[in-house]
Amino acid sequence: MTTLFVSDLHLDAAAPAAGAQFLHFLATRAREAEALYVLGDLFETWIGDDDDEAYRAGICAGLADLSAQGVPCYVMHGNRDFLLGRGFETASGARLIADPLLVRLYGQTVLLTHGDALCTADHAYQRLRGVVRAPRWQQRFLALPLAVRRALAERARSGSRRHMAHADEQIMDVDPQAVHAAMRACAVHCLVHGHTHRPAVHEFSLDGAAARRIVLGAWHDAGSCLAWDAAGFRLERLSR
Ligand code: MN
Repeated sequence: MTTLFVSDLHLDAAAPAAGAQFLHFLATRAREAEALYVLGDLFETWIGDDDDEAYRAGICAGLADLSAQGVPCYVMHGNRDFLLGRGFETASGARLIADPLLVRLYGQTVLLTHGDALCTADHAYQRLRGVVRAPRWQQRFLALPLAVRRALAERARSGSRRHMAHADEQIMDVDPQAVHAAMRACAVHCLVHGHTHRPAVHEFSLDGAAARRIVLGAWHDAGSCLAWDAAGFRLERLSR
């Protein structure tokens, strides 16, 4: 049996190809899996579980079908969809998981995280993260009318695009020191994350031992998935 990991699908009604591919993935490949993990940014935006957009309901229904087949589905918050809540869990059958999370995978302990918290050189983003992850801010935001939340989310997206266009390449990547510190804190030698949209397997030495950082890819132009079973792992590009 295989455990599957995906992240950074950024599903959005305005760009339906990724969603169609993901629904196909859920109905085929994922059905054979032991479990499916979505490590953040399943959706491009999530302004509250009460959002009634049909497109989101369709994605949740696809996830619910998978759960109904007996495949557990775990979803981590990303920096886009950190407002996924209990209503999403009910609609999708998926379970929200903490970031970071330690899992046992075929005899190995692996640390899972979305990855944005590791981009410590991006001070402006880390300040913003501190604000929007605070329960008080979230309560106030979720109490706003849907139309207002939609408009604010759209503004946040263009702000984010401007920030990314001007920020240094290196600032947008994870900071090696932050990676080492996170792995040391959990006493692991394997980390899986997304967020940076730079799929790769990085091998390095951590305190004299072999260590590995697996980065999942985004789904904008093609799918990306990490398949892990007793024989090992494969980071795959899923052509569209
Ligand atoms: Mn992200």
